[in-house]
Amino acid sequence: MDNNRKPQSPKPDPKKDREERQEQMKRQLRYSVSYLFVSLLVLWLFQQFVLGPLTVQATLVPYSDFRTKLAAGEIVKVYIGESDLRGEMKNPQPAATPETVPFDTIFTAGGDPDLVTDLQQAGVEYSFERPASPAGALLLSWVLPLGLLGLFWYFAYRARGAGAGGGGLGGIFGVGKSKATEVKAEDVGVTYKDVGGVDEAISELQEIIQFLKAPEQFARLGGRIPKGVLLVGPPGTGKTLLAKATAGEAGVSFFETSGSEFVEMFVGVGAARVRDLFEQARKAAPAIIFIDEIDAIGQSRGGAIRIGGNDEREQTLNQLLAEIDGFKTGASAPVIIMAATNRPEVLDPALLRAGRFDRQVVVGNPDLIGRQQILRIHSKDIKLATDFDIERAARMTPGFSGADLANMMNEAALLAARRKADTVTLKDFEAAIERVVAGLEQRTRVMNEQVRTAVAYHESGHALVAALVPHGDPVSKISIVPRSRGALGYTMQMPEEDRYLLTADELYDRIAVMLAGRAAEKIVFDQLSTGASDDISRATELARRMVTEFGMSEVLGSVRYAGQQMQYLGGAMEDTSGVSPATRKVIDAEIKRIIGEQYARAQELLRGHRPALEQLSHQLLECETVDGAAVQAALAGTPVVCGE
Ligand code: ADP
Ligand code: MG
Ligand code: ZN
Repeated sequence: MDNNRKPQSPKPDPKKDREERQEQMKRQLRYSVSYLFVSLLVLWLFQQFVLGPLTVQATLVPYSDFRTKLAAGEIVKVYIGESDLRGEMKNPQPAATPETVPFDTIFTAGGDPDLVTDLQQAGVEYSFERPASPAGALLLSWVLPLGLLGLFWYFAYRARGAGAGGGGLGGIFGVGKSKATEVKAEDVGVTYKDVGGVDEAISELQEIIQFLKAPEQFARLGGRIPKGVLLVGPPGTGKTLLAKATAGEAGVSFFETSGSEFVEMFVGVGAARVRDLFEQARKAAPAIIFIDEIDAIGQSRGGAIRIGGNDEREQTLNQLLAEIDGFKTGASAPVIIMAATNRPEVLDPALLRAGRFDRQVVVGNPDLIGRQQILRIHSKDIKLATDFDIERAARMTPGFSGADLANMMNEAALLAARRKADTVTLKDFEAAIERVVAGLEQRTRVMNEQVRTAVAYHESGHALVAALVPHGDPVSKISIVPRSRGALGYTMQMPEEDRYLLTADELYDRIAVMLAGRAAEKIVFDQLSTGASDDISRATELARRMVTEFGMSEVLGSVRYAGQQMQYLGGAMEDTSGVSPATRKVIDAEIKRIIGEQYARAQELLRGHRPALEQLSHQLLECETVDGAAVQAALAGTPVVCGE
């Protein structure tokens, strides 16, 4: 019944479409003809000047002459080939050496059966030539140059074809075409169901969806619709996914491109691409244009010193601003621009002005609930064990981004497949975390016994103090299996919940736990080792923030001393010029005091539980990896067997 329904075309006007296609074909023909012309010219030049000098110039002589000369003893050497004879004369005339006798002269006369005998008699050096491979000659003179030309043509074609969603040929003349990929509304295929943990962002985007779906309603009320939405957040949090899902929810086309695609060597190319992109989007409206990593073009123009000209970037940016200002997000052709960045602070203020990217939506790393949602989304196609506890998995992964979680789920499935299991268990997931976070297990690296012992006490110290301080996060796992990424052992703590607000006491406890590794080494061996350097730097950093940012030092009070982070020649630098040298001395003294106090506290706690420290370390040396229960057992003095 529906047979005669035409396939859906993105452009509503078939006549215009046809004209455009004809125009394109004409251009294509013109291009191909001129290409052919140039190719033939190049080929001719190649054969004339490159191959020509390579082949030997020879004079053709009649066979009779050859015979006469042979009899006269003027011939020195003869090469008998398949199709000709070549010879060298005793007194070569400048232009006539060596000589060639055509092959058919010999054989049309029934051959010359006496040739070899005569050559032998005349004492001429002669040899038979292997026929030159005609395939080789053909390859050199035709196939190779043609192949090169074809290859060149192909690349020129592809460079053009990649842009503008296919389209006709344009060869290298298409540099100004946008490289954005267009995804038609019906092909978008993702919705908000595929994005987890970003509920706030989604609710902020509802308005955009309503507008794209029913622009007339908004136009009727006269409200101003934001043209641009800037998604701000760390990498891998799902910004790209969210933009695409917005197109999916609204049922509109999606144009995806990246800021770096506008930054080209030639001034003006980027600007041309921006123009082309907006033109395409307007034709396909309603649509969403998504510019990933917009900081590549949108960087602040003044200010920081930059090496080299940035004319190109500036032109591109200006063109972008002009396009945003220029198009009316009217009811007839609603187009919304979305962009993503993880560095909003470097963006040119002009971009963030009202009427441009004035709507900023923060897409942060997911919290516990968000992580559960994301894990559920990414385990849809994975066979999880029935007792796979997604909540536990989410608890193990604080601070992970959506992309990290997706990766972890996949890694767990691979690990399960490797051990030929039918389902993915929480153990696989845990192994995946360890693998990705701490590097691959390197059981092969034999650790010397002394080092192993030191590491066992060090990690036991962390674990025990974590269990003993009032606000310590519970220990989930301790290991002394060396990892490739430097750590000789590790203690994994699992916070009960995500923490947004921490008290001073909790921070002190954290510092004590960090320093407890070194404290244990000090108590047991009365020795300091380099193994604590990471712990020390983390503890110091935390203490510094307590003093300079959180105002937790009584001496210094609730004053911010931390400098502003400055962008300087591409690197970040702290500007501490606002802090006087005298104050800086006090800050340093305060940091030292905090560290000193907590170090002493950790030592005291461990001294008070020396038997537990011994038991836990010995168990670690024996089992290599133990879980949180072993810590409680050590504190209670109940013995545990490996693997329980
Ligand atoms: P961004 O653009 O913020 O760097 P992407 O959108 O490119 O991050 O995310 C990369 C991949 O990670 C996505 O394709 C998706 O598989 C996964 N991912 C990231 N964040 C989420 C999320 N919030 N929900 C579901 N999957 C996510
Ligand atoms: Mg992205
Ligand atoms: Zn440590």
